[in-house]
Amino acid sequence: MQSAIRSSPNGISSTVSNASPGPAPNGMGNGLFATKDVPIGQNVVHAKQPLVAVLDTPRLEDTCSGCFGKRQMETGTELKACTICRIARYCDRTCQIKDWKSGHSLECAIFQNLKPQILPVNGRALLRIVLRASKNKCPPEEMKLFTNLETHIQEVSESQAHLDRMNLLSKAVKNYSDVDISQEVIMGYAARLDINSFNLTTAMYDRIGLYLHPFAALINHSCDYNATVGFDGEELYVKAIRPIKKDEQIFISYIDTTTPYAVRRKELSERYFFNCLCTKCAKGTNTPEDHFMKPPWDTAALEIAEKEALELMQEATHLDSKPQEQIKPLESAMHILKKTSHWPLTRQPYASLRDQLILSLLSVNNFSKAFLHAAIRYLRIDSVIYSPSHPIRQLHGWVLAKLAIYLSQEGFESEFREAALIQESQMNFHYVLWYLLADLTSRQGESCTVPSFKRLVSANFAQVHNEFKANGIDPSKSKAVVSGEWKKLERLVEIALDRE
Ligand SMILES: [Zn+2]
Ligand SMILES: [Zn+2]
Ligand SMILES: [Zn+2]
Repeated sequence: MQSAIRSSPNGISSTVSNASPGPAPNGMGNGLFATKDVPIGQNVVHAKQPLVAVLDTPRLEDTCSGCFGKRQMETGTELKACTICRIARYCDRTCQIKDWKSGHSLECAIFQNLKPQILPVNGRALLRIVLRASKNKCPPEEMKLFTNLETHIQEVSESQAHLDRMNLLSKAVKNYSDVDISQEVIMGYAARLDINSFNLTTAMYDRIGLYLHPFAALINHSCDYNATVGFDGEELYVKAIRPIKKDEQIFISYIDTTTPYAVRRKELSERYFFNCLCTKCAKGTNTPEDHFMKPPWDTAALEIAEKEALELMQEATHLDSKPQEQIKPLESAMHILKKTSHWPLTRQPYASLRDQLILSLLSVNNFSKAFLHAAIRYLRIDSVIYSPSHPIRQLHGWVLAKLAIYLSQEGFESEFREAALIQESQMNFHYVLWYLLADLTSRQGESCTVPSFKRLVSANFAQVHNEFKANGIDPSKSKAVVSGEWKKLERLVEIALDRE
């Protein structure tokens, strides 16, 4: 059988995998290699449970610590706090019992004693691993993989601040847990967690915490990756974003790889301690990520513009700034880049600025403006910077669809000039929405999104399609009408871009 099912002796965790570990070239230590051909959108690794996963501190309030929001998304029930520590919250007893068994039984009293202080997310992850390891509750096979992961302690030691933080954390966890494991060993766990954890996200790709799975942690980075990682509740999916051949090494991206050469390399060496030797980095600055439009250009002027834009972006994303205060600096930053007349929409930080701006606009209920930016992003940017199966592309399509649903149902906010612009286009939102959802649904087979996301898109498409049917219309049979409406959206995007 090609597909190996790895199952731990005590049945705590299991992984279905089409990949196995092996030595990786270019000094990358170990890596994962495909054990068979994997088509686009199919699983390379599917882990049913993490070794440890914990929520970010602000998410403890609004996200279930048992299902990480998966059942919450389906049932929409109000969360109930653990009656002892009142820190972890759950949908119901099922979620509570699940988390109790996964480690909350060992940490609950410690949480209670520390109140009102709450340990930071990496502290809670470390505490849980240490407590479970001390009681032999970690699947031995996974623990062995975990303790074999690299610590990069040598490199960490070069930064005194980093080393101090790690020391403090492991000392605190040693004290609170009162376990029979040396602080040195705990420090090793902390270092491994730091380097090898994934960002735990919802099925809609919002970050909610940390997730460690030692088998998936073996996957190396490439800026020219062939797989992406997604989460559905506590399940981890690594899916092929392009066809992977048997024996080919699996690569994911540890960072945002849409950024220029120098930015990627700086982040990888500072955060993960390696010099990337991937095929994309081998091309140096000779890839679209570094390109500007219409040479010749004034490099010094572009550098100044980038510096100013990044400063404004930093100002906007400052922790204390409120959404309505973020919009202005983000828009100013975009104007600065646009004014250079050499900055492609797809070149960073332009694309990220727009992402950030959409989020800020959504949080102040400026849906018309958010719709225009989301349409520009989906039609003009994503197709350039993400491959068709990329989950981010599907997610952005879904955000656009949701905005279309909202605007078609609630009407336009009269106070915004963007609302007038959309209305002038005389676009039929229902047809545009049908086309968008039909397109997203038809791509699901090859898309790297997770099952809950796919179900949501399919259910919404079925609903929109049935509403048309109820009115005696089948849009799939009136292609000319649908594409005519879609062309109005394309024209609207052009006008909106001209006015930016
Ligand atoms: Zn739950
Ligand atoms: Zn508790
Ligand atoms: Zn690279």
